[in-house]
Amino acid sequence: MRKLASIQRIKALEPIAEADAIEKATVLGWELVVKKGEFQVGDLCVYCEIDSLMPDKPIFEFLKPRGMRIKTIRLRGQISQGICFPLSILPADSPTDEDADVTDLLGITKYEPPIPASLAGKAKGLFPSFIPKTDETRVQVLQGLLDKYAGEAFYIAEKLDGSSVTYYVRDGVFGVCSRNLELIEDDTNSMWKVARAMDIEAKLLSLGKNFALQGEIVGEGIQGNKLKLRGQTVRFFNAFEIDTYQFVAFADFKALMQRLDLPTVPFLDENYALSNNIGELVRLATRRSVVLPEAWAEGIVLRPLVEKREMQGRVSFKAINPEFLLKYGE
Ligand code: ATP
Ligand code: MN
Repeated sequence: MRKLASIQRIKALEPIAEADAIEKATVLGWELVVKKGEFQVGDLCVYCEIDSLMPDKPIFEFLKPRGMRIKTIRLRGQISQGICFPLSILPADSPTDEDADVTDLLGITKYEPPIPASLAGKAKGLFPSFIPKTDETRVQVLQGLLDKYAGEAFYIAEKLDGSSVTYYVRDGVFGVCSRNLELIEDDTNSMWKVARAMDIEAKLLSLGKNFALQGEIVGEGIQGNKLKLRGQTVRFFNAFEIDTYQFVAFADFKALMQRLDLPTVPFLDENYALSNNIGELVRLATRRSVVLPEAWAEGIVLRPLVEKREMQGRVSFKAINPEFLLKYGE
């Protein structure tokens, strides 16, 4: 689970060119602007990530013009993501240990963009428990994991800004799911329409086993169609064997998609030696889309060529392009 607000240490403070009232702070792998002198290196603070929706309390009053939402901003040329408060904003009996989650305690919730009806669909039930939901952790909170896997062979995919879709076959029955729900068949629902147009049910059945494919539905009417696609399509990023509860490794995934004649997300580098420098990974994410070169990519997703597991699940994470977030007000 993402910790939107937590107790964190100020790791570094650096000057910002031609600015004397503000400076750049590093907290976790995030960079943000703070008032000069408000914090010292090594101080603990309450750090709130972007996407935090702050409660209507006097201390957060200054965020009212921004809809109480913490977004990516640029100040004096410096990108700033998140916000630091002194520990004194916490109620009296709060935890004080580094990394403690104070999201609920402060009444902070996550900003969620509205979902159009054509994507929401009608629920048949919850997302099936025999398939993992799609999700990617932000690289800024993964320094330990990066140190562990630095130098290993990874691949880099472009992150597409659409909507997550899961197609599966289990005991001969075909299912279609959005990010959190299984959906009833309905010809006004984009995920079902694309499934029929791409012949996904027959393709999954041809595998002769219980299997799921997960991808991003993109195109007209979805998330502003920033890549100016015509129509709608799904670009796949996961293949999952239900009975063994395992993801198919990269090379086999690519071969399978080719055999089924299904499109994948764009792969930008298929043999990348992982850097453990978060700044460098964010720079790698600061790129144009290979789908539409005049548009910013949303970011990148990095995964090892050979599947690896950690306690929290599969090793796989994202770096979001800050220029994309700035441009689209996130
Ligand atoms: P957060 O967890 O940061 O609050 P979120 O859970 O809404 O945000 P997203 O930013 O949508 O997550 O990132 C994860 C999603 O990215 C996945 O669920 C998947 O639908 C989508 N995605 C797009 N492109 C890719 C890709 N190339 N590889 C993996 N996932 C991708
Ligand atoms: Mn998530």
